[in-house]
Amino acid sequence: MSLCLFCKIANKEIVSRVVYEDDKILAFEDINPQAPFHVVVIPKQHIATLNDVRNESVYSDVFKAIGQITKNANLQERGYRVVANCNGDGGQTVFHLHFHVLGGRAFRWPPG
Ligand code: 5GP
Ligand code: ZN
Repeated sequence: MSLCLFCKIANKEIVSRVVYEDDKILAFEDINPQAPFHVVVIPKQHIATLNDVRNESVYSDVFKAIGQITKNANLQERGYRVVANCNGDGGQTVFHLHFHVLGGRAFRWPPG
């Protein structure tokens, strides 16, 4: 079975710059950063999109990791943005559930 891109990153078949890892979650630097700090947080288990989440514990695992990542990066006081793109209109390009954590600059609202 061929694995998706982020499964390969989770398996370390594809190299990434890991900033956080535990038994369920991996976070790594985005290859095309949109801010001075831009990491992608994934569950190690393959889930294609937000629509495919069957066990909500994935959210607590992801956001627990995001809390640690933003603390380690000293972003908490200044602020940061968390983004999850879903399917076509959401702009999702990799179909393995992931959350972008962006920081180090001010972001506009609404996003484009
Ligand atoms: P999406 O557009 O699906 O929300 O986000 C996918 C993200 O994955 C993009 O920001 C893209 O730059 C990033 N990305 C795609 N391929 C790779 C890769 O091989 N390595 C890393 N580190 N990031 C990737
Ligand atoms: Zn996958």
